[in-house]
Amino acid sequence: MNRLNKPVITKETIKAMEDMSFFTHAMIFDDLLIVAQKETNCFVLKTSDGLIVIDAIWPAKEAFDAIVAAIKDVGWNPYTIKKLVLTHGHVDHTGCGKWFVEKYHAYTYLSKIDDIFWEEHPTKPDRPETWKDYKIDVYVQDGDTIILGDKTIYVYGTPGHTPGGLSYIFPVKDDGEIHMAALWGATTPPWTKDEVQQYLKSLDYFISEAISKKVDVALSNHTAIDNGLERIMYSKVRMDYMPNIYIIGQDGFQKYCQVFRTLSYDLLERL
Ligand SMILES: [Zn+2]
Repeated sequence: MNRLNKPVITKETIKAMEDMSFFTHAMIFDDLLIVAQKETNCFVLKTSDGLIVIDAIWPAKEAFDAIVAAIKDVGWNPYTIKKLVLTHGHVDHTGCGKWFVEKYHAYTYLSKIDDIFWEEHPTKPDRPETWKDYKIDVYVQDGDTIILGDKTIYVYGTPGHTPGGLSYIFPVKDDGEIHMAALWGATTPPWTKDEVQQYLKSLDYFISEAISKKVDVALSNHTAIDNGLERIMYSKVRMDYMPNIYIIGQDGFQKYCQVFRTLSYDLLERL
């Protein structure tokens, strides 16, 4: 069977990250909600002491409204949002965080390196409306944990895509059964040889940590990588007797991570 070994990423892909005309969401685990626009997505993790938002799409009020509407739609209370955890300091992930801070007083988490990077190297340098617009309360780094109620998020320093990029591993439940989910924060490889080498080193490190944590669920914050929109559509109408499409097994997780190597090798050939 002829299957693609990497996603098709074009200028249109980048442009679509700013398209606020479309949002969709689904409960993909008992305690994990995904909210997406065309190209990027965030997650909302439910704990016994409130909600954690992971990444925040784009700095647009529409994105914030869509995330809040999705939280309400699944019967959760946005006033219980306690934390906003970011993978890295790019605008398509720092996103609409300022509204979570203003309205729900969410505590914000990012690495110190990427907080400075976000401030000093905006993704869109010519567009002030996309620049850093809220502060980070807690600097996290490799080896840290972020704890709320009954949930622990394990923090991994995975630089390369950005100098202080982070990835996360945390437990989720499917019909009450615990699985370990991994979110590789730095989706695509960066643009210089040195950075790509660093990215690949981080990837190897993250995969080895994922193996020791018995990760069997792959999450992505870019829908192009994992057929994100189709998986959300499936999850919305998943029947009781159908499998959870995000649970791919421990071997499946390693196979999935191959795409990041393929993208890197492609890029190294062109550099
Ligand atoms: Zn990025």
